[in-house]
Amino acid sequence: MAIAKVEPLLTTRSLRGPFDYRLPERLADVGVGSVLRVPFGRQRVVGVVVEVAEASDLPPERLAEPLEALEAGATPELVRLGLWVAHEYCSTPARGLELVLPPGMGRTGSGPGPRLELSASITRAGRDALTDGVRLGRVQRAALEALIDAGELTAAELQGAGADTQALRRLESRGLVELRRSERSRRPTIVGVGARSGRPELTADQSAALARVVSAMDGQERGELLLNGVTGSGKTEVYLAAAEAALERERGAIILVPEIALAPQTVSRFAARFGDRVALLHSRLSGGERRDEWQRLRLGEARVCVGPRSAVFAPVSDLGLIVVDEEHDSSYKQEGDPRYDAREVARRRAEQVGAVLVCGSATPRPESWDRMPRVDLTERADGVPLPPVEVLDMRTGTGGDGPLHARTVEALREVRSAGGKTIVMLNRRGWSPYLSCRSCGRAWGCPECDVSLVVHRREDRLRCHHCGYAEPLPAACPDCGSVTLARQGAGTERVAELLVELAAPLPVFRLDSDSAAAAGGHLDILRRFDVADAGVLVGTQMVGKGHDFPDVVLSVVLDADATLRFPDFRSEERTFALVAQLAGRSGRGPRGGRVLVQTLAPEAEAIRHAAAHDAQGFLAAELERRRALGYPPFSHLVRLELTAPDARDAEAAAGRAHDRLRNELPAEVALLGPAPRFRLRGRHRRQVLLKAPEREPAVAAVREAVDDLAGSRDLRGVAISVDVDPQ
Ligand SMILES: [Zn+2]
Ligand SMILES: [Zn+2]
Repeated sequence: MAIAKVEPLLTTRSLRGPFDYRLPERLADVGVGSVLRVPFGRQRVVGVVVEVAEASDLPPERLAEPLEALEAGATPELVRLGLWVAHEYCSTPARGLELVLPPGMGRTGSGPGPRLELSASITRAGRDALTDGVRLGRVQRAALEALIDAGELTAAELQGAGADTQALRRLESRGLVELRRSERSRRPTIVGVGARSGRPELTADQSAALARVVSAMDGQERGELLLNGVTGSGKTEVYLAAAEAALERERGAIILVPEIALAPQTVSRFAARFGDRVALLHSRLSGGERRDEWQRLRLGEARVCVGPRSAVFAPVSDLGLIVVDEEHDSSYKQEGDPRYDAREVARRRAEQVGAVLVCGSATPRPESWDRMPRVDLTERADGVPLPPVEVLDMRTGTGGDGPLHARTVEALREVRSAGGKTIVMLNRRGWSPYLSCRSCGRAWGCPECDVSLVVHRREDRLRCHHCGYAEPLPAACPDCGSVTLARQGAGTERVAELLVELAAPLPVFRLDSDSAAAAGGHLDILRRFDVADAGVLVGTQMVGKGHDFPDVVLSVVLDADATLRFPDFRSEERTFALVAQLAGRSGRGPRGGRVLVQTLAPEAEAIRHAAAHDAQGFLAAELERRRALGYPPFSHLVRLELTAPDARDAEAAAGRAHDRLRNELPAEVALLGPAPRFRLRGRHRRQVLLKAPEREPAVAAVREAVDDLAGSRDLRGVAISVDVDPQ
């Protein structure tokens, strides 16, 4: 008797699955990855088969039968991967498995169905009717003639000949055509911005990199590679050629990009090169499009998948290659449960199926630098040198205009008269980050979170950037009645307005999540900047990602050290990447370019090395610092966060978690905390941080502690989240 071991898609932490079900003859096709509807207690739930066994520990009469098998399912390989994610990131099997199921299926087992389309073909009687002088209406004749030429046409196509569905039905009833319904894929449209098409010849560097990938694919080298290439060195060309090599070997490929909206060029180049063999998977597609793209991959009609972090779970069989483009980007980390890191999942999946993992970046992570075999692309593909970078010290009088240094103002004026494009990055949106009263010192904070409210002048509102709370911008101080309120500091909204004056008559485009929501999205703003002859693009870190505008002659980074002021061990790495990425995107055209970096910390390693385009120097220094402080890659971090509406509950739960872990973990695991974090969305937060030399035992101890705490009754109202490898 066959037994299906089923993991129900319920997220209750205390559930100890999988559960055994007896498979009757009618469900003989059920295998690992099949999705079943099963009786579970008094409920009917959807579950995934994680194993098929010959026998059960339970007597047959105590085993229930599944009610039905649903049509869609995952592959055994993906089931293994989903369970690994659940285990590795201290989540539940259900949440891990949901990642690998068809899009939109969720816990209900229902998702969007296939799109069915009516099509018509002509019958023998129909052919005869055209020649035998049978009485036919004008529309009927036109439809039949169109069908003679084409063989089969869809109802939509026949509409062009004037025949609607009703007309087709009448032809069918006379036996002149045959109608059928068939499945047709909904395909997303792909819009390119500034993509240069064609197939350039590979440079010597690119060919050498490709050779390494191919030799790894053919099993002659370790299956992973860090492609360390300066901005503009043509990493995408290597990915394209590597994907081609995979297809030649009848293997598939997954290409991960940080954020689909910010990677239009990569997406359109893959679509141009591989046509229908490419599928896109991302959350901005409609439910139907996602389902159909997923199915095309599952059925092998498409063999290359391009998408953001979730595409690492794409159902590509015989996978030969996984590319992680811009591998330093923090969007590869999922922020909800399970808090997986797509780069680690990619590594695991590549190992599991014997695929090659290629991580590419101009600013690789210290972890990747330390542990991955590396191949360098040291020059831009067009041979143009990287632009000179000037660091502007903002600590002394700058002689400039508010947030802009005098040199920046001067450079902007030069571009205004000479023409060309400028990119200005300030990683802070809104008009100004604080509002305070000059008379009594009152500061405006969010009532739900312990953070300042940000002034948004166009909307005339104060907004919390953490929870979305908003209130009208006050005209006077409610405490003392004073009308002298100070808007301190500058965000993109304010700088954009300043630039409109400075750059006029050149157009100014603002790109941040506020402006993208208001206009037609990121793509629209990028496209307008792309087609303009000259102009200024100002925005948050979005302006430094993915795109390639050859006519940018000036790039400016404002408040470059803002990210350094965050108390986080990744601050240095982030700051370096932010500045170096933008610096690398300037001066790609024949006119060359220059970069200005305004900062309060000109001597910081991250700024100095970014200004010198020196990733290698930065990484060497950063790895030394990490080694001294015992941070990754020299340790593994696990962060536990305990939150509750009442501060005492959060405190008590954090204390218990800490004590329990201290008892169980060996002394060489450092346990930091419980430490308060700022209140968020009305919840008080405490965190406990583990710094462990070995990963597995630390994760295991946390998993057990959390399962226990989650089940204990006196901690109701306390939410616990675990973040392995926090970003
Ligand atoms: Zn006041
Ligand atoms: Zn808030």
